[in-house]
Amino acid sequence: MIKANLTDVMRRVSDAAESAKRSPDEIRVIAVSKTFGAAKVLEAYEAGARDFGENRVQEAKGKVEELKLTDARWHLIGHLQTNKARLAARIFDMIHSVDSVRLAKMLDESCTVREGRAKLEVLLQINIGDEPQKSGVPAKDALQVVHEMLKFSNIRLTGLMTIPPYCVDKEETRRYYSELRELRDEINASLGENVLTELSMGMSNDYDVAIDEGATHIRVGTAIFGGRDYSNK
Ligand SMILES: *Cc1c(COP(=O)(O)O)cnc(C)c1O
Repeated sequence: MIKANLTDVMRRVSDAAESAKRSPDEIRVIAVSKTFGAAKVLEAYEAGARDFGENRVQEAKGKVEELKLTDARWHLIGHLQTNKARLAARIFDMIHSVDSVRLAKMLDESCTVREGRAKLEVLLQINIGDEPQKSGVPAKDALQVVHEMLKFSNIRLTGLMTIPPYCVDKEETRRYYSELRELRDEINASLGENVLTELSMGMSNDYDVAIDEGATHIRVGTAIFGGRDYSNK
C-alpha cells in the first residue's frame, strides 16, 4: 500500500510542478513517518523514499539507529527543545523547526558531534498565521532573526518553514504559502543575496497548492503511510 501511495504522490507532485511550470526535481518529498515503526519506514525506503520526517527526537533516534539507511536523509519537523539540540544535531540532516536564536546557537555549538558530515541544514519556522498555540517566529521578526542566525558558522540556514492555520478548503491555505514565499523574497532582497532558497510548506491535503506557491520541501505523512494512530502513545 505504501508503494502505491508513494507512486501516486510522486505523480501528483509531477503534475503540480508541471502546471506551475517548475521542474519536479526542485521539490523534495519528505515522507513523514512519525508514529510509524521502523518496518513501515523500510517499506517506504524500498519503494524509493529517501527523505523522512519526524517530530520527536527520541522516536527518530530509535528508527535511525535500527535502520542505518546510509543514503536516507532525516528531517526534524516538530518543535525542538534546547536540551535535545545535541542529540538532534547528531541524528538529523535538516531541522525545519528552528524558532529562536537561542536554539540556533545551541545547534551551532552542538555541531561538533557531526564528525565530518555535511553542515547541519536548518530552516527558520515562521508562525505565518500568528497563532498563539503554534511555534515559530512572527513574520515581522523574521529578518532580525535571520540576521542573528547567519552569524553561526556551523549550521547552514537555507530557508523558511511554516505550518499554516487549519483551513477546511485547501485553497484558503494558498495565501499563507504565498505570504511565506514573499517573506523569503523580501529577506533575500534585504540581504542583497539569495541566501534563503528553500520553502518547507505543504502537507497531505494541500501540497499541490504549496508547490504552486513555490514549495521546495513538502511534508507528506497520511497520503503515504495512511492514518496515524496515537492511541498507544
Ligand atoms: C505530521 C506533520 C506533517 C504531515 O501531515 P499529513 O497531513 O499527515 O501529511 C507535516 N508537517 C508537520 C510539521 C507535521 O507535524
